[in-house]
Amino acid sequence: MRPHLALIEDEPDFALMCRSYLERAGFVVTWAMDARAGKSVLYEGGVDLAVLDLGLPDGSGLELLRALRSTSRLPVIVVSGRAAEADRVAGLEIGADDYLVKPFSQRELVARIHAVLRRSQPPDAATVLQVGSLRVDTAARQASGGEVHLVLRPKEYALLEMLAAAPGRVFSAAQVLERIWGSSWQQPATVVEHVYRLRGKLADLPPPAPRITTVRGYGYRLDP
Ligand code: CA
Repeated sequence: MRPHLALIEDEPDFALMCRSYLERAGFVVTWAMDARAGKSVLYEGGVDLAVLDLGLPDGSGLELLRALRSTSRLPVIVVSGRAAEADRVAGLEIGADDYLVKPFSQRELVARIHAVLRRSQPPDAATVLQVGSLRVDTAARQASGGEVHLVLRPKEYALLEMLAAAPGRVFSAAQVLERIWGSSWQQPATVVEHVYRLRGKLADLPPPAPRITTVRGYGYRLDP
């Protein structure tokens, strides 16, 4: 299968050049022009690696990376026009897998992508989250418990993975919207509806099935 890359980059000329080069190198590329679009591509799932520009028109790539790292180990290569050591260190500390300073050759980008993908495979134990009887395989994006395989829509899966990555931690509806829908203008009712459906599906798991607890006035958490 051809690896799927998210290219989050606001400079159209550079992004289009990268995209056509990467496609010729055998990757499937989804291009996002800003942080908001990038977030939805990343949380939609199915991406194997993100190439992330730090200077985006609607926010810093570092912020996007920080939010991503709280729920995901998706390989990320940061590309930046900033060569400053502080930026490079910040990027790597937040959890970038590699850092490239512009200008760089397309060949080098491809070589780095292959290296990072090789390092991130095969999926290690950390890609499986276990909460009670619930097992979330973040590499396969599948959730199951015992013999029961949960059939989840993409957003339901993303919500479940987010909750299962931090059992007991409370997430507000705004945080859920921000992380999973990549926006805060959606209605909180959307979250309520997804939580409701997820609860119904989790109820099919064998004991000890985790449950989603509503914390009144704040949000939701997954309890083992
Ligand atoms: Ca930029």
